[in-house]
Amino acid sequence: MESATNQSRLTRRSFLKKAGAITSVAAISPFTISSFLTRSSDDRRIIVIGGGLAGLSCAYELDQAGYNVILLEARSRPGGRVRTYRDPFADHLYAEMGAEYVDSTDTYVRDYCKKFNLKVLPAKQYDGVYVRGKYLTMKGLKSGMDSLPFEGTRSGQLFGQEVHYIQKWIDLVKQKGEHSPEVQALDKMSVEEMLKKGGAPKDIIDLYTYTNATESTSVPSKMSALYMVLANARTSAFSEDTVEGRIFGGNDQLPKTFAKKLGTKINYNRPLQRLVFDNNGVTATITENGKLTTIKGINCVLAVPATILRNIKINPGFSAEKTNCIQKQQYGHVMKIAMQYRRRFWDEKNSIGQRVFTDTPLRRIYHFSIDQPGPRGILLSFTSGEDARKLGRLPEKNRMKIAQNTCTSIWPEAQQYWENGVTKYWNEDPWVKASYSLAGIGQKGFREILAKREGPVFFAGEHTAVNRASMNGAIESGLRASEELKRAVKV
Ligand SMILES: Cc1cc2nc3c(=O)[nH]c(=O)nc-3n(C[C@H](O)[C@H](O)[C@H](O)COP(=O)(O)OP(=O)(O)OC[C@H]3O[C@@H](n4cnc5c(N)ncnc54)[C@H](O)[C@@H]3O)c2cc1C
Repeated sequence: MESATNQSRLTRRSFLKKAGAITSVAAISPFTISSFLTRSSDDRRIIVIGGGLAGLSCAYELDQAGYNVILLEARSRPGGRVRTYRDPFADHLYAEMGAEYVDSTDTYVRDYCKKFNLKVLPAKQYDGVYVRGKYLTMKGLKSGMDSLPFEGTRSGQLFGQEVHYIQKWIDLVKQKGEHSPEVQALDKMSVEEMLKKGGAPKDIIDLYTYTNATESTSVPSKMSALYMVLANARTSAFSEDTVEGRIFGGNDQLPKTFAKKLGTKINYNRPLQRLVFDNNGVTATITENGKLTTIKGINCVLAVPATILRNIKINPGFSAEKTNCIQKQQYGHVMKIAMQYRRRFWDEKNSIGQRVFTDTPLRRIYHFSIDQPGPRGILLSFTSGEDARKLGRLPEKNRMKIAQNTCTSIWPEAQQYWENGVTKYWNEDPWVKASYSLAGIGQKGFREILAKREGPVFFAGEHTAVNRASMNGAIESGLRASEELKRAVKV
């Protein structure tokens, strides 16, 4: 019995080794030939891997232009990091467990929403602040009546407290230009180092963790100072006045509409395992019904996160610079927690607010179901960085206990109205294993390398976009890849 087990282990291991060393598709003898191949002998197929907004928009545009496109998606649904939960909640309530906000400048998202008749409704701004155990209102903060319990902060604002300490570098950008060597060199410094150099007390660095670093899902010691300075020099940094919207009825309607239009050109439950390419085209090895299967195309678009690309066998391998960026591209940690309550106590008298900015493990806690009829409602938490990582190590039951207790510390009556809750920790999702890409120290130029075509293989995904870390960026990248393909290959 033992020897049989060893035998099968050995056989499998040596098979994998061999498989890793192959250089041509013909060598993949134990694999079945995909049903796709028998279905069509057309070898001018373009294979898109990944059915998030990047892959969907790319495949959609290619399909519209008359290309023979198929999309292979690992899961049984489209949308990737756009994920609307409906089932765990009562009364047709829903919550965004992935991407939520559409900014006023997110033109790619807004244009497709218009095209597909989806409404984007404005979201409310933060109205409460609960930090270091102190209850404040945004109104009080803005008027100067309330002050933040953080040393070195200026009154009248919550976000942007770092600007004062980095002003000389913002001026440097204005004097020398974004592309000057002096400015570009700031990429070697972390946000934390720059704030310290600029004379910021530790409290300012701590506060930055809860303001901007929360959006980046990282910590100030791992974020590039260059991007903090550029964001402020361009005056586009996140602030309490940023205008945001959400797709009415759930963001998942956008990927689902793309998917419906692609119809059976999308193939679900088909994760890519290996990609072999040469001048004649690509051969993708996927899992199909539990078996390895191959499918050929003239080109391929890889629209999966870098964290996933790291584990896909690529033969003969990408360039050294591409491989380096795939390995090192930085991501953070992110979790969403949706909590269903029987009553919307956060709307009532004496409530600190409906949307509360906190330094608790739940970080941002807000009424998500504001556009949905009551009486029940959903509070949503967006938490990231070290807090998401710590919560992520706990079982669901314990995560929920912390969530309940935190809400009760903000709204004392919360406990009696609690009904149900659910978390989504994206770092444990097997098809993402991360949050979204961020500007790590020394990673300027990564995006361009990650986006660059290699032979018949094209690249998309938010990590390849100028508007990274967003739905808008995912679509931007999908459109960019589809345009590159249209230029390279005629229908
Ligand atoms: C918690 C959270 C909050 C966010 N908030 C916002 C927000 O408010 N606003 C905003 O604009 N953006 C937000 N984002 C970011 C946004 O969700 C992403 O930038 C965007 O959805 C990424 O799209 P993508 O197509 O690049 O990647 P994904 O959506 O990750 O798509 C990749 C697809 O590839 C599939 N895949 C993976 N491996 C394989 C494989 N081996 N074979 C085949 N398929 C595979 C995956 O299943 C997935 O469907 C948020 C993200 C998260 C996680």
